[in-house]
Amino acid sequence: MNNECFVNACRFSVVILMLNIMMIHSLSAQTTPAYLDKDQPIDLRIEDLLNRMSLSEKIGQMTQLNVDMINQDPKSNYAFLDPDRARDLIQKYHIGSFLNGFAITAEQWYAFIHELQTINAEESRLNIPLIYGIDHIHGASYLKEATIFPHNLNLSNTFETRFAFHTGSVTAIESAALGHNWNFAPVLDIGRDPRWPRFYETFGEDPLVASRMGAEYTRGLQDHGSDRYRMAATAKHFIGYSTPMTGWDRSPALIPMQFLQEFHRPSFQAAIDAGIKTVMVNSGELNGVPVHASYDLLTKLLRDEMGFEGVILTDWADIIKLTAYDVVGYQQQHYHHMAEDEKEATRLAVLAGIDVAMTPMSVDFHTLMRELVEEGEITEERIDASVRRILRLKFDLGLFENPLPSLDERDEIGSDAHRSMALEAARESIVLLENKNDILPLSAQPSTILLVGGKANSRMALNGGWTFEWQGGQESQYPESMETIYSAIRHAFPDSEVRFIEETGEPNSRSHNAFKRAASEADFIIAVVGEMTYTEFIGDINDLTMDAEELQLLRAVQETGRPHGIVLVQGRPRVVPANILDAADAVIFAGLPGFEGGTALAEIISGTVNPSGKLGFSYPQYPSHFTTYDHKSTERSTSRWPFGHGLSYTDFSYSDLVLSQDVLGRSQQLSAEITVTNTGERDGRHAVLWYITDEVGVITRPVKKLAHFEKIELKAGESRTMRFVISPDEHLWYPDEQGQRVLESGRFFLSVENLREAFRLE
Ligand code: BGC
Repeated sequence: MNNECFVNACRFSVVILMLNIMMIHSLSAQTTPAYLDKDQPIDLRIEDLLNRMSLSEKIGQMTQLNVDMINQDPKSNYAFLDPDRARDLIQKYHIGSFLNGFAITAEQWYAFIHELQTINAEESRLNIPLIYGIDHIHGASYLKEATIFPHNLNLSNTFETRFAFHTGSVTAIESAALGHNWNFAPVLDIGRDPRWPRFYETFGEDPLVASRMGAEYTRGLQDHGSDRYRMAATAKHFIGYSTPMTGWDRSPALIPMQFLQEFHRPSFQAAIDAGIKTVMVNSGELNGVPVHASYDLLTKLLRDEMGFEGVILTDWADIIKLTAYDVVGYQQQHYHHMAEDEKEATRLAVLAGIDVAMTPMSVDFHTLMRELVEEGEITEERIDASVRRILRLKFDLGLFENPLPSLDERDEIGSDAHRSMALEAARESIVLLENKNDILPLSAQPSTILLVGGKANSRMALNGGWTFEWQGGQESQYPESMETIYSAIRHAFPDSEVRFIEETGEPNSRSHNAFKRAASEADFIIAVVGEMTYTEFIGDINDLTMDAEELQLLRAVQETGRPHGIVLVQGRPRVVPANILDAADAVIFAGLPGFEGGTALAEIISGTVNPSGKLGFSYPQYPSHFTTYDHKSTERSTSRWPFGHGLSYTDFSYSDLVLSQDVLGRSQQLSAEITVTNTGERDGRHAVLWYITDEVGVITRPVKKLAHFEKIELKAGESRTMRFVISPDEHLWYPDEQGQRVLESGRFFLSVENLREAFRLE
């Protein structure tokens, strides 16, 4: 018996005893099985149900299939259930879960899931509801009418956790009632390698920001949907996915335990502490072991050390990817060559700790698991441990009482209230990086504004991947009502002539001459450049430098000599040569601000909104050198704009950093104060970032680490005293070489902007 089985056996033996007594007692009194009685304790309901389930039914609960398996036309972009296939899969394999989406309306989702759950109710012997999983990554992004928020990277720029909370709660309110009860978000991988194609899905480079944002998203999604329809969040992708050596998706990562504990673990730990119900595993290999086959990571670290008790889900087809197969339709490079065949892969993954296999296009998992049990390779106790967790998830979500979707929440979908939350988040997520001679805001209405670059007139460019479809790459999916940058600028400058030119053309071509003419007539040019949509391996790059066509466009704008600003619409910080950036009068990082992003950007450019975003990541100046702000003393930061950089239309200054004492005992607290003043002429919002530096350590320490952040609103001329209380247990420890917690005496510095004070821990 392995550790996990032993712990589970102990934990549940008491429950089983109780259950037996209660069952004997109640059998004569009632005919409804205990597991269907909502007034019984969940532990008891789980044991009662588990006792009634066949091995095949149990394995069915562990199997998750893609919607293509039950859709009439698997290639179509539209959900149209094939009832016979659904019936057949549920009858034969007792499938417990399906996943994936299409850009369809609330009514279409309702009809699809209603029919699917109804078939399940007819075919499932024990009437165990299905759970449907989906990637609503930034709002209910597979629902046509949904409110679409900025992506996580943008949210990190806000330094305001309520926006992560809103993204979660609005997603749940808009889609849980439609039968989407399991959301594959938030991404809690840490964004420390800007080459990685999923960088924009992260909450940036700092573990504290990612932890707080992830925890708030989780609370918003899981605890603040509607009362009847609930949604589970997924912390993904555990662990070490985001810093592969090549920068490419799902390629090998080498991460020392110290780094893993210090930078990669905190965001997952915070989500677990916030009660996250499920975890999805990293598809890649970490230190030579594919995470899906790692007992050390999935059971020892995630369960035993980090205390995760919920459901562990594989990522897409990741069991088969442990093999050396070359299956048409899968990327061969994703194969780990670790298991001889799929049966061995299945054994490895299940014994490592997975509960649900997103197979997702085959039922082989079901067949192989049965064989493994018959051959004595996997015990039924091991399977029971997973099935208990899966059933608990379904009971917790209320699915047994309420398996059918509803349109009750329809009026909430895309409501004005929700859209204004997304707009507010977008405003604060946009970062003003450069603003020479306060050229922005363009407050006096210029007579002519010229927008250049296709992304200025694109909806999908503002939304990126995971919007209506995996790659988010279909402009036609977007509603006409969504503003592009171009249309939003037109509305923000009603008295100006706003022109748009998609490309600057080859030198001496007719289009280039037309561009030059338009540029010479413009009072201000806004060049919109960056990236088009992508996610996962589709977004792999060989060079962090911005693509050549984009740079050509910027050079053409620069050559006009006209006043101009650059707007960066992109999922990661693509490098732009310094001479191009230096020539611009203003630079704005718009990132992927979502549906309201065009409006928010126009408000900032016109000055109706004072920008308050600060970078949640370091923006590199060179394509082959990028460091995070919390680098070591022997490294140098060559960032063009560091983590925390962001300008405002007003100025803030700091004074009077005062500590309650300069010596601190281990069980004491130190309280620090600082005064922040808005010295400019406009009201503004401002994130105050507190850093701690540990001067000497048994292992080398970063030059500084963010210890606390808070965003405030200050009227012009207003001052406010901010406080931060340091607890050694929370703020001064770090993981050593083996990943063990150490708290050492010595000197520390607390710093905010240009002010710094020392204190000692005794
Ligand atoms: C991605 C996951 C996603 C899953 C289901 C995978 O390819 O890595 O993040 O949740 O697909 O769509």
